[in-house]
Amino acid sequence: MEAVCLRAIELGVEEIGFTDHATFDPHDPHAGLFDATGYFDEIDYARERYGQQVIIRAGLEMDYSPDCDKVIRTLLEAHPFDFVLGSVHIVEDEHGWANFAHEPGVSGWFASRDERAAYLPYFRRLEEAVHSGLFDVIAHFDLAKWHGVEFYGPFQPELFAAETESILATMVERGIGLEVNASGLFQPPAEPYPVLDIVQRYAAAGGTLVTVGSDAHHTAQVGQGIERAVALARLAGIRHLTSFHQRRAQPRPFTSFRLSTPAMDPEPLRWR
Ligand SMILES: [Zn+2]
Repeated sequence: MEAVCLRAIELGVEEIGFTDHATFDPHDPHAGLFDATGYFDEIDYARERYGQQVIIRAGLEMDYSPDCDKVIRTLLEAHPFDFVLGSVHIVEDEHGWANFAHEPGVSGWFASRDERAAYLPYFRRLEEAVHSGLFDVIAHFDLAKWHGVEFYGPFQPELFAAETESILATMVERGIGLEVNASGLFQPPAEPYPVLDIVQRYAAAGGTLVTVGSDAHHTAQVGQGIERAVALARLAGIRHLTSFHQRRAQPRPFTSFRLSTPAMDPEPLRWR
């Protein structure tokens, strides 16, 4: 955490959110391993040391599965998170289950299903996550495409227009934010999560709460692709960014996220 703060300061990032990953899904070997006490000890230390130079938000990415609703609720109520991302990685249908973040495990899932059958359980579970009322923001809305694009080609949002419209409408109604996650730019989809079309639909439905993230798992990835995530949000018709403090949304101007080294992302914009 300390190295990440130092890198953020070096890049001129004004505000950084840590979103350690937590899950209780028994399919995941990391289930139940998130150590909230250790996490908040690190947050406190980082704020003490670097809080003058960069705003540090205590976030969490919580993997949702309906069976774990109660234990998730208990965890979130027990700790002073600034914001909680709701996400889905693990899905199941009558033939099996898969973790969309784990290759090669997920290959069998894709190999035995067409695109619609492979992604639909993902969007169904995402809808349940939204309805749970547990989350401030939905993370990487179309994560199912991560390795799916290697089987089916570029993700086609229009195939799931009905499902995503319904999920996005509920998000808008409940004031739930949408994350634009830049990590997809550097993964097989070569575009953020979600695709522009989904951010446009969110904005068209009246959604205004968009957060941007690089989903950095290493210090070198801090801020990676953020400029392009911001550009995508603007292109979709979003008027400002959003950050969260004590689980309340606050508007942030696009310029507040501008990094001091704009040359960091030299590649041209590419959206479809
Ligand atoms: Zn995730």
